[in-house]
Amino acid sequence: MVYRIAVLKGDGIGPEIVDSALAVLHRIGEIYGHTFLFLECAIGGEAIDTVGVPLPQETVDCCLKSDSVLLGAVGGPKWDSLAGDQRPEKALLGIRAALGLYTNLRPAKLFPALRGASPLREDLINAGFDILIVRELTGGIYFGDRGYRTGKYGEEAFDTEAYSVTEIERIGRAAFEAAMKRSRRLTSVDKANVLETSRLWRKTMHRLAAEYPEVTYSDMFVDNAAMQLVRNPKQFDVIVTSNMFGDILSDEASQITGSIGMLASASLGGTTRGMYEPIHGSAPDIAGQNKANPIATVLSAAMMLRYSFGLGAEADCIEQAVDRVLEQGWRTADLAVNGGAPAQPILGCTEMTEKILKELSPAQ
Ligand code: NAD
Repeated sequence: MVYRIAVLKGDGIGPEIVDSALAVLHRIGEIYGHTFLFLECAIGGEAIDTVGVPLPQETVDCCLKSDSVLLGAVGGPKWDSLAGDQRPEKALLGIRAALGLYTNLRPAKLFPALRGASPLREDLINAGFDILIVRELTGGIYFGDRGYRTGKYGEEAFDTEAYSVTEIERIGRAAFEAAMKRSRRLTSVDKANVLETSRLWRKTMHRLAAEYPEVTYSDMFVDNAAMQLVRNPKQFDVIVTSNMFGDILSDEASQITGSIGMLASASLGGTTRGMYEPIHGSAPDIAGQNKANPIATVLSAAMMLRYSFGLGAEADCIEQAVDRVLEQGWRTADLAVNGGAPAQPILGCTEMTEKILKELSPAQ
């Protein structure tokens, strides 16, 4: 089978980590007899420098023609002084909207070998945890009306949040369906004690909950959720929440797994085409130094195989290879930092990729 993958490497460590994932996909193709065609397109700062805009139309067209999209990361200090709608990060919102990707799946799983790298106390995580954050991706305050105006105290800025029942329902259904495939527990996170959008969110989720009696459903305020994630992460299975709350909570969840360099994500809409990317940014502080951890991007490629192409065995093969490399004690610098002295020399991005490639063999 031939799969066409739009490849958006982006800025900073983007090219390094995406190259790792492409090497892994290429090897998976050899093992399982698939052809992955990589169609490279510019996005973010790279696109600003070459074409003058963060999201060129050719990039959107290329993604729309592909079977799925793999993204590195965008942004960096070079473009920080640009106006909001000209910045590299604007391309992220644009491509998600252009591809109709309203569901963002962000797994936060503690790899047993990385327990020592989690900042949480051993007794809080010794039973492990495996959380799936389902974040709404194309609505809410990141897409609402915004601007500047003159207010009571002079110049002021404003951002607005709006959610329709339709938007809440479709992300809610995605979350209930995800919970049905896992341990059937779903927590909806909102701020219904303050926000009108959250009250509509909660009312709509309750209606959906009645359609999924097999799922144990609960509500939680976002401030409590932020606290519970570090107090007792094991209590969560699937969390569903709005765009901004999901952005913040998933970064918190990533940190308790040990490193932001481990966490993959999938953005999905109404078709099998998705966009897959690590949840971290372009890490300009370590770009071009062979220090980046490629695992989040490699695991994002595994999610693509599973969710867009239905290649579960191939995805398992990648995830098991990562598990084995970590069990053998191999670490990139970000993983070694909290975990004490690693058993082996610290690896760069290239060397970590080589270790993963070596461990790839049909899943057990
Ligand atoms: P960041 O995620 O890029 O970096 C935060 C910290 O984590 C840094 O110390 C970095 O070195 C480290 N880090 C991140 N990924 C790593 C990896 N794979 N391996 C090892 N260490 C890693 O967040 P930031 O510093 O807030 O943002 C940097 C730039 O990235 C900004 O321009 C920001 O707008 C952009 N950004 C882009 C995306 C995206 O493209 N999806 C997401 C977040 C931030």
